[in-house]
Amino acid sequence: MIIAIDGPSGAGKSTVAKAVAKKLDFDCLDTGAMYRAVAWKALQDGVALDDAAGLEAIAVNDAIDFGRDGGSQTVAIAGYDVTAAIRTAEIDRAVSPVSACPAVREALVEQQRRIGLAGNYVVEGRDIGTVVFPAAEVKVFLTASPEERAHRRVRQNVDRGIGSIDYQTVLADIIRRDDIDSNRAASPLKPAEDAVPMDSTGTYIEDVIDAICDLAYARGAERA
Ligand code: C5P
Repeated sequence: MIIAIDGPSGAGKSTVAKAVAKKLDFDCLDTGAMYRAVAWKALQDGVALDDAAGLEAIAVNDAIDFGRDGGSQTVAIAGYDVTAAIRTAEIDRAVSPVSACPAVREALVEQQRRIGLAGNYVVEGRDIGTVVFPAAEVKVFLTASPEERAHRRVRQNVDRGIGSIDYQTVLADIIRRDDIDSNRAASPLKPAEDAVPMDSTGTYIEDVIDAICDLAYARGAERA
């Protein structure tokens, strides 16, 4: 079974996806981490963010591997562990042009399908219900207000020990990224017609998690 969770950054997708996967005993696939890993490698190799052929070569040739470190997931590209390195503001800025490149999307979507079809997965991203797994049994489009998402991001950086960041800068960046992700030609961020909309602004995240699990149970997922 595939549970697709799409929505803008900071809507709570990762938290929700991990919790749903744990409750149902599914695996989790964070597709944003794959675009971030390609962006990291491009910066590392000095590939310009508008060099479509250079970006495509990374997406096609540099293997992305997910692993486990205790309870948390790790990400590597071309053998480099980039779990922490892909969460910086520099990568936040670099990832939108990378993910707007159709050849990069094609290469990563193929890998995402291969991974997801091998088991029961909660897959989070922007185009999972529309492009990657249009036949997903459960589709959710998770949103939250830009202000709420910016507050969460500021808190998250402090919790992760990355340091404090300015709220107004984060808010402006979120609005800018939403705009690029929603208006790009290749797989823009938009809900699938059959996605269930959920808004996590001011709601308990546990309620969102329970609601998604209920959708999965209704589609035949077993209670773990
Ligand atoms: O989810 P996260 O914020 O880590 O995603 C980083 C970026 O990757 C997004 O801003 C978006 O540009 C891109 N992305 C995408 N399609 C996906 C997942 C992420 O275009 N399925």
